[in-house]
Amino acid sequence: MSNKADYIGRFAPSPSGPLHFGSLVAALASYLDARSAQGLWLLRMEDLDPAREPPAAAAQILSTLDAFGLHWDGPVIYQSQRLSAYADALATLQERGLIYSCDCSRAHIQVMGGVYDNRCRLRRLPPTSGALRVVVPDEIFDFVDTIQGPQQQNLQRECGDFVLRRKDGLFAYQLAVVVDDAFQNITHIVRGSDLLDSTPRQLYLQKLLGFPSPNYAHMPVVVNDSGQKLSKQHFATPLDLQQPTAQLLAALQFLGQFPGLHPDPHLATALPAELLAWGAAHWDIQAVPKLATIPLQSDS
Ligand SMILES: [Zn+2]
Repeated sequence: MSNKADYIGRFAPSPSGPLHFGSLVAALASYLDARSAQGLWLLRMEDLDPAREPPAAAAQILSTLDAFGLHWDGPVIYQSQRLSAYADALATLQERGLIYSCDCSRAHIQVMGGVYDNRCRLRRLPPTSGALRVVVPDEIFDFVDTIQGPQQQNLQRECGDFVLRRKDGLFAYQLAVVVDDAFQNITHIVRGSDLLDSTPRQLYLQKLLGFPSPNYAHMPVVVNDSGQKLSKQHFATPLDLQQPTAQLLAALQFLGQFPGLHPDPHLATALPAELLAWGAAHWDIQAVPKLATIPLQSDS
């Protein structure tokens, strides 16, 4: 891609089921941030794990975005069609001696508190056995998140060498997202705070692969009464295509975009396109609550 706009944002859902209110908040925030900057808003389907993706889910996501007036720029990128790009990036790192095989169990890593102890670094397992990990330095990666403020993480101490190709042969999210953000020339990433912890790994991969690092803004994620992120696994209610305006208003409210208690009454009957235009004209990313999670109100 050769587009070099000043602002290129994206929405990158996994087609594991229909969009729900949490996905609408994520889509809307990235859309409004892009549109308020006269930027492009690209769409990427993160469909790397076919076992978790019902065949119709990707098409359903596209028609839902359409029904909500969230129109994207350019062609949709499908990660399932980008495997050779991920293989090339992995090969680049392999040639530099930064990749090794690991056959450790998930249970072992849990015992370590989720921080991998790099025990396979020196074992020299054949490249066909197990997952492939990238060596991380004992170094702090820091950045200033537009919403959540200054962040830092020592990759070796707080994460450990991490997986780029899974044991089952699938490319890991961390590798694919970095390769695709560079491929699509993404300048601004607006996404849920559940990915805040992943950002230092992505900054590291960008540095290794010679890619620029985008700006990051991590929004609070919508959680249910038990504090779990809304997801298909937690039976989140799919968006109602018959009532886009009411749900867009609820999402704007969630994002702190109504300084008063109630939105302007005429917005309640607006078409999605009018509401989105209002939202872009009034978008204030600093009004987004600086929280990691917000419980879903029962009336939204
Ligand atoms: Zn291991």
